[in-house]
Amino acid sequence: MTAQSDYADLVQRGLSLDLTRGKPSPRQLDLSNDLLKLPTSYRAADGTDGRNYGNLQGLAELRELFAPLVQVPAEQLVVGGNSSLAMMHDTVVHALLTPVPGAARRWVEEPEITFLCPVPGYDRHFTICERFGIKMVPVPMNADGPDMDVVERLVAEDASVKGMWCVPKYSNPSGLTYSDETVRRLAAMETAAPDFRIFWDNAYAVHHLTDTPDELADVLALAAGHGNADRVFVYASTSKVTLAGSGVSFFGGSPANVTWFLHNTSKQSIGPDKLNQLRHVEFLRDGAGVAAHMRRHAELIGPKFELVDKVLTERLGDLATWTSPRGGYFISLEVPHAAEVVAKAKAAGIALTPAGATHPYGQDPDDRTIRIAPTFPGLEELEQAINGLAVCVRLVAEEQG
Ligand code: PLP
Repeated sequence: MTAQSDYADLVQRGLSLDLTRGKPSPRQLDLSNDLLKLPTSYRAADGTDGRNYGNLQGLAELRELFAPLVQVPAEQLVVGGNSSLAMMHDTVVHALLTPVPGAARRWVEEPEITFLCPVPGYDRHFTICERFGIKMVPVPMNADGPDMDVVERLVAEDASVKGMWCVPKYSNPSGLTYSDETVRRLAAMETAAPDFRIFWDNAYAVHHLTDTPDELADVLALAAGHGNADRVFVYASTSKVTLAGSGVSFFGGSPANVTWFLHNTSKQSIGPDKLNQLRHVEFLRDGAGVAAHMRRHAELIGPKFELVDKVLTERLGDLATWTSPRGGYFISLEVPHAAEVVAKAKAAGIALTPAGATHPYGQDPDDRTIRIAPTFPGLEELEQAINGLAVCVRLVAEEQG
């Protein structure tokens, strides 16, 4: 059978499948249903009433639980609402309006602000930059993280480079983890801007798919050790640990950064949802509780990652390359003419994240990267979708020669 007749068959089946967003499946959400019955007490460990206003930084017991997991001392962690993305967005706003520690002025007063964006990367980071007119400069990702020769050159020569997005562990979308050497170089490098910040989005810190988790170097400690204590803003959340819409998020950083952050957020809120924080402490209990819970997630989504890998290997062989992540939520597929493949898939009822979404301004100069999010569909649906995607890749390869 030719690719063309395979594609005609595919279209004829009238599929309606979605591989776009990295959402947990209903079965994964079910793992956290006990949260709906918690907390059993509204008293925090220090005796305060969780129902009331107050405690902007968040409950100490929750910060202590997550401190080792996100590699931030508990006293330097802040617990936020259900979205770490909101915390990242708001940090950028705060930096625009109130000088970050070490800054000569507010970012809004700078003639130009530039952020480095490792690519492929997370589209919603790029959307934040677009919203505030922050110029984005792509940096290629290597197997051990962003190309550090490029990063070191750009931050050293251009004082408008104020920020850099990093998803350092099981990255979105490649699934790669930064090597110790990459993290060390990020922590140690010379920057022209005294107020340069790394937005360390450790969204997949505990999201392992194997029994031998990737280890990530401790960027905060390394930065402090190199005299750059204020360089890093750390983010994480339980969106893909417990409930994607009702988790808790974290901001971490140096004592000066945390003071600055709380100074700003104190104008926004009288305190976070501490009942949700109590619920999370009761449900997850400790590091071992989190690890056991994440193993249950891995049992559900591990087979999905394996299935994608198997189907792509069988159907595409040398026609494409893709990542085989050891954790996280995504697979990055590299194919020629990615936009055309995505269009063909759409016409066949298979929704994929738009080609280019993994790059600043939606522009993938090589037109190669497609992000696959395998977690939400059931195994059967996923198999159909990846088989269909493979048909589209083969067809486009044949058509474009
Ligand atoms: N950061 C990364 C890298 C993500 O992939 C996602 C969700 O896909 C988020 C942040 C969103 O996090 P939250 O739900 O805490 O806003």
